[in-house]
Amino acid sequence: MKCPKCGSEDVIIQVINEAKLVTKHHGLLWWICIGWWWIFVKWIFLTVPALLALIFVGKRKKIVNVRKKVKVCQSCGKTW
Ligand SMILES: [Zn+2]
Repeated sequence: MKCPKCGSEDVIIQVINEAKLVTKHHGLLWWICIGWWWIFVKWIFLTVPALLALIFVGKRKKIVNVRKKVKVCQSCGKTW
């Protein structure tokens, strides 16, 4: 493997673990296609459960461990 900056072959690969806090939420397309009527239906039939769902589901966060491979050039110190 060659360093893209200096062309050195002296490159090591480091695997690092990154803890990411991910908030689960729907994308814009979801809101445009489903979100508005889904919320509407929920408000009519499930007003109370919907409120509870918003409180609990809306704030649900996940900790995701992301494994990242980082290549480090030993000559110039470039990481990519
Ligand atoms: Zn380099």
